[in-house]
Amino acid sequence: MSSRRWLRLAALTILVGVPTSSWLACGGGEGNLTDPDLGALEITAETIGPEPDADGYAVAIDGAGGRSIGPNGTLRVEGLPSGTHVVALTGAADNCTVADRGSAAIDVVGGSTVALRFAVVCRAATGAVQLTTSTGPNADTDGYSLLVDGAERQPIGVAETVLLQDLPPGAHTVGLSGLAANCRIEGDNPRPVTVVAGETVAVGLAAVCDPPPLATGTLRVTTATTGADLDPDGFRFRIDEAQEQPVGANAVVSVAGLAAGAHTVGLLGVAANCTVGGENLVSITVPADGTVDVSYAVTCSPATGELRVTTRTTGSPRDPDDYEVSIDDGAALSIGSNASLTLDELSPGPHSVRLHGLADECQVQGDNPRTAAVAASATTTVVFEVICAAATGSLATTITGLPDGADADVTVTGPNGYSERLIETTTLDGLVPGEYTVAAADVTAGGDPYTGSPATQTATVTAGEVAAAAVSYGRGSTVSVNLRIEGLYLIQSVQTLERGVPLVAGRDGYLRVFTVANETSPTRPSVRAQLYRDGTLLRTLNIAAGGATPTSVDEGVLSRSWNVAVPGSLIQPGLEIVAEVDPDDEVPETDETDNSFPASGDPAALEVQSASALRITLVPVRQKANDLVGDVSEANSDRFLDVTRRLYPLPGYAAEVHAPYTTTTSKPLDSDDANGSWSEILNEILALQTAEADGTGRHYYGVVRAPAGGGLNGTGYLDVPVAMGYDDATDGARVLAHELGHNWGRLHSACGNPGDVDPDYPYPAGQIGVYGFDVAGARLRGPQVPDIMGYCRESWISDFNYEAVLRFRAQSDPPSLAAAAEQRSVLIWGRIVGGRAILEPAFEVMTRPSLPRKGGPYSVAGFSADGARLFELSFEGVPVADGRQGARHFAFAVPLDAAAASRLESLRLTGPGVQASAASRSAGLRRSGAQADAVTVRPAAGGAALEWDAALHPMIMVRDAETGEVLSFARGGRAEVRTSGKDLDLVASDGVRSWSTRRAISGR
Ligand SMILES: [Zn+2]
Repeated sequence: MSSRRWLRLAALTILVGVPTSSWLACGGGEGNLTDPDLGALEITAETIGPEPDADGYAVAIDGAGGRSIGPNGTLRVEGLPSGTHVVALTGAADNCTVADRGSAAIDVVGGSTVALRFAVVCRAATGAVQLTTSTGPNADTDGYSLLVDGAERQPIGVAETVLLQDLPPGAHTVGLSGLAANCRIEGDNPRPVTVVAGETVAVGLAAVCDPPPLATGTLRVTTATTGADLDPDGFRFRIDEAQEQPVGANAVVSVAGLAAGAHTVGLLGVAANCTVGGENLVSITVPADGTVDVSYAVTCSPATGELRVTTRTTGSPRDPDDYEVSIDDGAALSIGSNASLTLDELSPGPHSVRLHGLADECQVQGDNPRTAAVAASATTTVVFEVICAAATGSLATTITGLPDGADADVTVTGPNGYSERLIETTTLDGLVPGEYTVAAADVTAGGDPYTGSPATQTATVTAGEVAAAAVSYGRGSTVSVNLRIEGLYLIQSVQTLERGVPLVAGRDGYLRVFTVANETSPTRPSVRAQLYRDGTLLRTLNIAAGGATPTSVDEGVLSRSWNVAVPGSLIQPGLEIVAEVDPDDEVPETDETDNSFPASGDPAALEVQSASALRITLVPVRQKANDLVGDVSEANSDRFLDVTRRLYPLPGYAAEVHAPYTTTTSKPLDSDDANGSWSEILNEILALQTAEADGTGRHYYGVVRAPAGGGLNGTGYLDVPVAMGYDDATDGARVLAHELGHNWGRLHSACGNPGDVDPDYPYPAGQIGVYGFDVAGARLRGPQVPDIMGYCRESWISDFNYEAVLRFRAQSDPPSLAAAAEQRSVLIWGRIVGGRAILEPAFEVMTRPSLPRKGGPYSVAGFSADGARLFELSFEGVPVADGRQGARHFAFAVPLDAAAASRLESLRLTGPGVQASAASRSAGLRRSGAQADAVTVRPAAGGAALEWDAALHPMIMVRDAETGEVLSFARGGRAEVRTSGKDLDLVASDGVRSWSTRRAISGR
C-alpha cells in the first residue's frame, strides 16, 4: 500500500522535488524561507478544443476560492503547510470538461514547489450550415436575400456558397427571399435543417426559372411588425396562389420578372398572436417596367395559450348535476361529468386548476387542485379522473362501562384515510362502504384506569345499511401486552426460519419456538407444542420460558426462543406441529386470539425424509516404512464418528474396525504427498474394499499416523466411499467428516484456502450461512461458523451441504447393490497420477463384482496368449479430493470364470496420454505349485514375517484365513503383517495371474 495518495490521479502531471531556489526566483513567499514546513503550488490550466472557455476558470484550495486563472494560465500559490491539499478548478463552460472532475488531492512538501496541471477539453458548442445556391437558365438577375429562422441574414447570389456559423444545435430553417417571379426553388423554401454541434451541414437550394414574359414589372413587398412576442419564424408571401417565398418580419423584398397585369398577393405564416392590419389578400396591377408596392403592417400581442380541461367519471351513482372548474381560483365554470372545456387567452406559465362541485360519493383521483403549465400558442390538457363510489352506509358504535360524564377514546378508521374519534356511543353516517377498524384506547376516569375491550375490532359498512360495533370499558389494570408466535422450527443440524431443511426420520431434533411480545415486557409465558402424525396426537410438549419475551425473533440467543429436545423416535414422515403461547391464559393480553402457530390453529406439516444409517469400516493403517500405526480400535472408534453423527443427515451409524492393514509403501507419509504415499495408500484401501466381499456399499476409511505438523491430514474420493485420514485425537473426527463429505459428492467451501471450491456454494468465506444447532451438545452454531467442507476447524455444516448430502445418499444407496453374489473375479486396480499410469498387480479373488459405473476416456483390457480379448472396461476413474490435483484411481472386480482366468496372459491400460501393461511370466510355475514353498512364513512380533522372491511375484495379497480380511498388499520380497489369526491366505501375483495357498503361522 502506498501512502502517496496523489499517485492515484493518473490524469494529472505532478512534479515534486523542484529545488527551493525555483520559488525563491519567483520572488514570493517571504517569511517562508525560514519555515521548512511551508511549500508552494504551481497550478497550470491547459485548454484545448475548438471552442475554448474564453473567460477562464476559478481555483479553490481546500475549499477557499477567489483565485482566477486563464484558459491557458499559470497560478502560483505559496505559504501552504506541508500535507495534503485539495485543489479544485471550477467555472468551466458547459461544453468544457476538466480532467478528474476538476479536483485533485496533492501532497505539498515543505520547502518545495509542487506543480499541478489541469487538462481541460472544450468541445464545439455550435454547428454550421454551408448553403449553396444554384440556378438554371433565365436566372434571377438581382440575387436573393438569405433568411435564417425567418430573419434576414445577408444577400446571396444565385450561384454562391455561404457558411453560416455559430448556430445553436437543433432545428432551424434557411430560406431565400426576393426570388424573381419566373423562378422557384425546388423543394421547400424555407428549408428545414438540423444543426449538430461541431458539424457542418450542407444544404443546396436550386432555382428553376422559366423564360420571363415579354412585358414584366416588379412587385415590392414590405413588412413591418410591431408589438410583443413577434412571430419567431418570419412570414411567407404568395403570388397568385402559386409562387411562395419567405420574408422577414421587417423586410423589403423585390420580385422582378412578374408579368404585367393583375395579380394577387397574400401574407402567410402569421402566428396566432399576430394580426395583419387591413386586407391580407391584396389585388395588384403590375405595370410593364414599373414597380407596385404592397405593404403589410403586422401587430403582435403577447402570446397566450389554451387550457383544455377534461373530466372522465366512472362508477355509480353519478353526480346528478355538472361539476365546476376554476382557474387560479377564479370564477367557476360549469363542466359536465364526462366533458371537455377549452379556456383560451391564458398567459404562459403555471396555472392552478381545481375541479369542484362534486357529490360526496364522487372523488377526484390525484391532486385537486393541480398545476397546469400553459405554453404560448399551444393547448395544454388537464384530465380529471373522477370515481363515484356506491352510496354510503352507517356505523353504530355502542360504548358502555364508563362512569357518567367520562369520555371514551375510540377511533374509527376506514377507506380513503377516514378517521373519526368517538367519546361516546355514536352512529357515523355517510361512510364509504368498506372495512372500518374500531380501536379502543385506555382512558382514566375518576382517577381509575379503564380498558376498552376489544382493543380493536373490524366492522364492514355496506351501502344503505347500519353496521354495529360495541366497545365495553372495564375498570382495572391496563393491559397492553400481546403475545404471538412469530415462527418455529425443528432442527437436527441446521435449519431456517422457513423450515426449508428436510428432517431425517429417527434422528434426534431440537424444537425452537420463537415467541414475541408487541412491547418490551418481563412476561415469561409458557409455550405448548403438540406433535401430530397423520392427524393423531403423538406428544404434548410444555415449554417454560428461558428468559423475558423478546419483541422480535432472535435466532442467535437460545434463551430468546422456547426450546425442547425432540427424540428421533417421534420424527417420522407425516409429522405435524402446532404451538400456542400462554395456552392457559395466564397472561392478560390485548388479543387473546392470536396465540397459535400456525395462526389457523391447525397443525403444519414438517418434511421428514427417511435415510439409511452410515455403515463404515475403519482400517488401522500400519506403515512399513516407519512402523507407525493409526490409533483406531473398537475402544475409540466412536470418537472418530463423533463429528459425523452430529453434523450429517444420518439416523445413526454402524462402525467396524478392520484388522490392521500393513502398507509396504517404501516412503513414509509426508506433509504434502510430495512422495505420492497418501495417493498410493488410498489406492490400496480402494483395492482392499473391492477385494473384500463385505466391502460392497460400505465406507472404508483408513486411519493413519501422519507426520507431526503436516499440511495434509486426510484425502478421499469424490463420489466413492473410500477415504483416509489421520488419527489426531482432537481433529481426526473432523477430517473423517470432511472426507465423507467428498465421498458424498461435496466439493470444498472456501475457508482455509482449499482447492476445488464448489462454485455453487451460496455463502461468503465458506461460512454455514444459517443457524446450526448441535443437538447432542445442545450448542448453537452461528451463521459465521465455517462449513465442514473447508479447511477450517470448529466447523459445522451449511444447509446447502446438508441437503446435498441427503439427496446424494438417497440417490446412491440402491439396496440392490449388496444383493450381487460373490463370484470368482479378477481384481484390476491402479491409478493415473501426473500423466503416469500405474497398473498394480492383479489378483484372483472371490468377491462381489465391482465394475465402472460409467464409461470414460480410459480403458483396461485383458488378453490371452493368442491375443484374444477376454474383457475390456471403459472408465473415467475416481477423482481424489485433497490429494494431488487431477489424480484418478480405479479398482474393479471383474467376474471371470476359471477357464477365462486360466487364459489371461496380459493386461493393458490405455487412455489420454498414458499407457501401462503387464504380462504374466509364471504360467508354468503357477501350475507346478512349487512357488508356495518359495514364501517363508514365520512368527514375528504381533503377527508374521514373510519372505519371497519379488522378481517372480511383485506383490502378495495377505489375508486372514479365518475372516478373509486383507492384511496387506505386500511388495518387495519382505513384509511383516499384524494379525492375531493362526493361518494366512497368501495370493501371489506375477502381475497378471495369481496363485493362492493357505499357510499356518508356525507356533500358533
Ligand atoms: Zn477436502
